[in-house]
Order: sequence, then C-alpha cells, then structure tokens
Amino acid sequence: MIEKLEKMLICRGEDEERLYAEAKEIKNQTIGNKVYLRGLIEISNICTKDCFYCGIRKSNTETARYALSDEEILEAADFAYTHRFGSIVLQGGERSDREFTERITRLLKEIKKNSNNELGITLSLGEQTEDTYKRWFDAGAHRYLLRIETSNPELYAKIHPNNALHSHATRLKCLERLQRTGYQTGTGVMIGLPFQTITDLANDLLFLQSMDIDMVGMGPYLEHHATPLYQHRHLLLPLEERLRLSIHMVAALRLLMPDINIAATTALQAIQADGREKALEIGANVVMPNITPTTNRTLYKLYENKPGIHEGAAESMRKLEESILKSGCEVAYGAWGDSRHFQSR
Ligand code: SAM
Ligand code: SF4
Repeated sequence: MIEKLEKMLICRGEDEERLYAEAKEIKNQTIGNKVYLRGLIEISNICTKDCFYCGIRKSNTETARYALSDEEILEAADFAYTHRFGSIVLQGGERSDREFTERITRLLKEIKKNSNNELGITLSLGEQTEDTYKRWFDAGAHRYLLRIETSNPELYAKIHPNNALHSHATRLKCLERLQRTGYQTGTGVMIGLPFQTITDLANDLLFLQSMDIDMVGMGPYLEHHATPLYQHRHLLLPLEERLRLSIHMVAALRLLMPDINIAATTALQAIQADGREKALEIGANVVMPNITPTTNRTLYKLYENKPGIHEGAAESMRKLEESILKSGCEVAYGAWGDSRHFQSR
C-alpha cells in the first residue's frame, strides 16, 4: 500500500490525470459536489507554544499580540449565521489557563443561544485536558481540529524541539481524548516541510486512515521569516511543487477515505489564487472563509503572503462563491455539513 501511495504522490502526466479523475469520481459518487462553509474566526494570536514553523509562536517578538473581544467574536458568529454559513470555526493560539477555558465555554453557550442552536461550531484551540474538551463539547462545540502536523515522531521532534512544551505522544493522546468525548475529530499535516520525505507523507495518509478520522485539514508548509525553520528554506521544494504535492495528497486521501470531510485550506490559495478550487474539484468539500475583523487578520500571520488579509468578509465571500462554482461544485448554504463518515459510524 505504501508504495502505491508514494507513486500517487509523485505521479505526472497521464497518471496524474487518472489520479484526479478517480478522486473526483469517487467524491461525486460518495458525497456529491456540495461544499460546506465554516466561517473562520481567528480569536487570538497569543500562544503558549513555540512551534518552529509558526509566525505567531510565543518567541516571535516581532508580532503584536491581540485577542478579539467577546463582542467581536459574537458579531463575527452572527455574520456567519445571517449569511447562512452553517458553521463557524474558532481558532487561535494555544492557552489552557482557567480564565481562557471558561471564557470559551461562556462564548460557546452564547453563540448557540444567539443562533437558536443552528450554527455548528468547530474548535481549533490546541491541546487541552479531557475535562476542558468535555466542557466545551457540553457547551455546544461538536467538531475539533487538531493537526498532528506529521505522523513521523522524529520529524515532529525536529520541528518542535522543546520537549518541555511539545510532545508527539501528547498530541496523539489529545486526538484520542477528542474522539472519546464524542467530537467529530479532525486532524491533518503540513506538506513540504524541510526534512520531510514522500514516504513520510504516504505514512501520514495511512495514519489518518488508521485513526479513523472524520475530517482533515492539510496544506502546504509556507515559510515565515521570523521562525527558526526559516533557516532550512534551502531544503524546500519550490512553491508550485508544494502545491502540486498538496493536491495529490487530497486526491489520494479521497480515494483512501471516500466519505470524510476534507478542507481546501487557505495555504493552497497563498501559493496560487485558484489553489483551493483545484482541491475542491478533485476531492475537498469544505472551505473556511475568513471572517475575522480585517484589522486583526494581518496579525494572525502563520506564514508569509497569507491571502485575503485586507479583504472584507463580503468581498472574500463573493470571490469564494465564484471559485466554488468554477470548480464544478455548489455551496451548501445553511447546512452543518457533518462528516458522512462520522454520521455512518
Ligand atoms: N494553535 C492551534 C494548533 O496549533 O493546533 C490552532 C491554531 S494553529 C495556527 C493551526 C495550524 O496552522 C497548525 O496546526 C499548523 O499546521 C498550521 N501552521 C502553522 N504555521 C504554519 C506554516 N508556517 N505553514 C503552514 N501551516 C502552518
Ligand atoms: Fe501556537 Fe498553533 Fe502556532 Fe504552534 S501552530 S505556535 S500551537 S498557534
């Protein structure tokens, strides 16, 4: 299996066309051509972690820090609700102090109440205790995204060398906690990291399958000048190759796990304006339009050239709808778009 996946990841020409056609067909047969929207609210760039690749890591002193107010978060959620997004994602730097976890619980309850329970809520707030995951679940969150970043523990250690803060084993445990709590659980990896091999990526796909994951967000690694990983940029594949590899990963995953939710990530669009379209065409079925207030969007800079940081929510929505239609898909307004894989469990 591993060799077959490796071949899929590097194929070209007719083989590449066949891979795309097969992935597209299986997607349309299994889950159809609907695309589900998750309004992304980047609630804060304050983070206690120090990942070597991320522009908002705690040691980056070049970044001004922000946290959206309750009102700003509720307003953004309301925007998603009134524009019939179906769901939102609250994402941010990792914090696990009580003040923070309790505030999230409060906000979740308020968002559910304000939307008559209609808005689906995904969280992407990093590693937490089982108790915190449970409190957030009971308060109304029902999906959680926690990328494993890479399934290779040695590569994980290279890009998170601070053992006191980071552990691959803990990240895995957190995914298990989320599954036990009852969340639709999402994970994913970065593609094209320095030191990463094609075998690592093929193993990542098998990892996603073996974890029986419900949803996946994976995309190209993009460098940020104020991070330690930047010094290894000479090892990186050219951007267009990272994009191609990411699209191949999406297609291969769709073949491996036909009924899961797969996001067309923003990082794809950072490399090429129509990067997300291509992913939707051949396998992805979820997009996460950014609905963070524009003044804060520039500060949530994980990597260089983050797209759409100055665009208003209405403007990015118009462009997105255009690109979804171009990819032969259709926006499913107002739908939660739960993972078919999770539902049929
Ligand atoms: N702090 C939470 C966490 O790490 O799970 C959630 C927010 S974090 C910014 C979300 C994801 O951003 C990470 O899982 C990582 O894969 C991605 N990310 C961070 N820096 C990146 C970079 N330079 N290129 C591509 N993706 C990046
Ligand atoms: Fe913090 Fe997440 Fe960035 Fe790591 S990837 S530094 S945990 S925001």
